[in-house]
Amino acid sequence: MTIIYPSPIFGPIHSRRLGISLGINLLPSDGKVCTFDCIYCECGFNKDHRPSLTLPTREEVSLALEKELQAMASENRLPDVLTFAGNGEPTIHPKFAEIIDDTITLRNRYAPNAKVSVLSNATFLHREATFKALARVDNNILKLDTVDLPFISLVDQPNCSYDIASTIELMKKFEGQLIIQTMFLKGEYQGVKINNTGKEFVEPWIAQLKEIGPRQVMIYTIDRETPAKGLEKATKDELDSIGVLLEKEGFGVSISY
Ligand code: SF4
Repeated sequence: MTIIYPSPIFGPIHSRRLGISLGINLLPSDGKVCTFDCIYCECGFNKDHRPSLTLPTREEVSLALEKELQAMASENRLPDVLTFAGNGEPTIHPKFAEIIDDTITLRNRYAPNAKVSVLSNATFLHREATFKALARVDNNILKLDTVDLPFISLVDQPNCSYDIASTIELMKKFEGQLIIQTMFLKGEYQGVKINNTGKEFVEPWIAQLKEIGPRQVMIYTIDRETPAKGLEKATKDELDSIGVLLEKEGFGVSISY
């Protein structure tokens, strides 16, 4: 069962890690739009969920968010975090930067203690307005599953021009104001074995993390049914071992099993 979220607001979702998270989905409500096509994506493969609706407008997002925050405030159940996530890549939205500004304004007005988080695959960091908007949010959470291009091509399946070296260069420019999120998984896809938990993947990835200098690294594994068959979770021991290596290098680490 893949998940397609309502748009532009969904939830709130109660998460052990984030608390009460109100979701902001800048993609259409009837399908998925992403510059990656990860074989583990909880929204399914892009080709199976092409939307017929358009992206929500900046005004629609702002109005819907304000309405929800007003309702939550009146019931005294304000969110701990406003999370940009949902049916694909939020920075695809042409008004992403303006929507971040609107969201920060509304957060300050209705839920000043809530954090603004963005889950992004980092494919639009080259757009100056997008970069600056990500630098303004509390939790700028960017995907870097590995630094091995064949693995990214097989597992993340970018459908845009994606270059690891330039993505890493742009990540460095946040000067620590970013969190890296990395999916660890195993199994087989299209006849090719997959496993990014071994040291041949982990060591070069940590070497690049030291260059990037994120303030935290989130590592996790498959949690829901995946569109590709034959994938397996990384084990708790594997994630813990990677966590220990990260801690030794002085990174803040969050692990979801
Ligand atoms: S980047 Fe995120 S939304 Fe896009 S395909 Fe991968 S998991 Fe799905």
